[in-house]
Amino acid sequence: MQNKTDQPPKQKKRFTLHTMLAFAFIVFTVIASGLLFLEVLFLEKFYYYFKTEETKKIASNLLESYGTEDFEETMSGIAFQNQICISVIDGRSYVLYNSDVMDHKCLLHGFHNYLYPLMQEVKNSETGMICMNVFDDQINMETLVLGSVIGDIKNPDGYMLFNTVLEPVGTTVTLLKRLLMLIAVLLLGIGCIIALYVSNLLSVPITRITESAKRMAHGDYTAEFQGGGYQETDELAATLTYAEHEISKIDTMQRDLIANVSHDLRTPLTMLKAYAEMIRDLSGDNPVKRNAHLQVIIEETDRLTMLVNDILDLSKLENGSQKLEPSTFDVTSWLTEICNRYTGVSEHMGYHISFTPDAPRQVTCDAGKMERVVCNLINNAINYTGEDKQVFVSQVNTETGVRIEVRDTGAGIEEDKIKKIFDKYYRSENHKREVVGTGLGLSIVKAILKLHNYSYGVRSKLGEGSVFWLEIR
Ligand code: ADP
Repeated sequence: MQNKTDQPPKQKKRFTLHTMLAFAFIVFTVIASGLLFLEVLFLEKFYYYFKTEETKKIASNLLESYGTEDFEETMSGIAFQNQICISVIDGRSYVLYNSDVMDHKCLLHGFHNYLYPLMQEVKNSETGMICMNVFDDQINMETLVLGSVIGDIKNPDGYMLFNTVLEPVGTTVTLLKRLLMLIAVLLLGIGCIIALYVSNLLSVPITRITESAKRMAHGDYTAEFQGGGYQETDELAATLTYAEHEISKIDTMQRDLIANVSHDLRTPLTMLKAYAEMIRDLSGDNPVKRNAHLQVIIEETDRLTMLVNDILDLSKLENGSQKLEPSTFDVTSWLTEICNRYTGVSEHMGYHISFTPDAPRQVTCDAGKMERVVCNLINNAINYTGEDKQVFVSQVNTETGVRIEVRDTGAGIEEDKIKKIFDKYYRSENHKREVVGTGLGLSIVKAILKLHNYSYGVRSKLGEGSVFWLEIR
């Protein structure tokens, strides 16, 4: 049965992006059509309102210019421009000015001759002003009548009366309503099609990315993420591709690490078991053999301890829990002292470690960790040097610091392997078991030098040997 946590967390069923987009588009279309419809519905009222306001404004302007020299000219101009009939009557009911732009078809000049009844209405009004809609059966149209006293309301100098036609908008409104219904239906249809199309365009790449992410979650790091050509989804796809690459690298590293560690642990453990059994069954009573076997057990235990310590040290160095403890010292005497420690090896096993110093130079670094670097390089050089068993350590003062080189006369390292030797657990296929090592030595060297931010490298020639160098700055 599969573990529950292996499955992606179940999401509550919500609306899909598809549905939400379609819904939003339809709501938008309905609101847009509704607003258009409202406008048509109130078109008539709007028209009447604006026409009345405009006529009122014209009337008040004309009232202001009453009594000026060019009043008559202004009045005729306004009447003609706005198609308004205007009459001005004085206090004794004499008609002073007349502008009949409707050819006697208005309420003021037509056969109804409402001029005086309207004047009377203005006279009787409380505000000295009237404004109303009157249906003119002479022209069969709705008209707007406006009248105002001239001067003081109690003792007026005269009256000004206006009459204009309110264009019939009823049929236009009906026509527009029908047209709008059609437009609304079309808008809805087009809106739905666009909504479906756009939501499809957006949801397809997201669905595809989700499918790939699910495959990645199940360990398939070949899953491809495609954004579909939109900035956000492309960015998401690129980020996931990067994450996939990194997870895959970590996954491979973890697998390699487990494989290597278990492989390296298995060999000494098998040896330990075999020799322990041999002591129990065979050599228990034979002190010479027993001691030899016990010696193997001790050596294998040392190898195991070394491996476990290296793993721990490296992980501490890499996860940043080991901080540098810098001190200032003379590099020449420091290197001399390190090399002198190898005198024992030289004497016992015939190796010769020679040190070529430069002028004494003070450096500041973590002496303990740097000592481990130099010792690792010398140990490797001893392990891999040629038949002559020569190892050369040298100090070269540079403008920026001190360069330390460790050279051997061994078989050298192939070009393509040079890049790998600083990787964890890399050991050349042809390394012999006698060469005691964990495959972590150079990784530790690299981690310490990186922590110091020092440059380092290898020069190697097949058949001639290798030079491992680093520069203390
Ligand atoms: P170890 O020495 O424990 O195997 P290292 O990390 O120190 O691990 O080295 C990694 C690999 O690099 C070695 O297995 C070896 O193949 C190669 N190497 C290191 N130093 C030298 C050297 N001086 N000459 C040739 N090969 C070397």
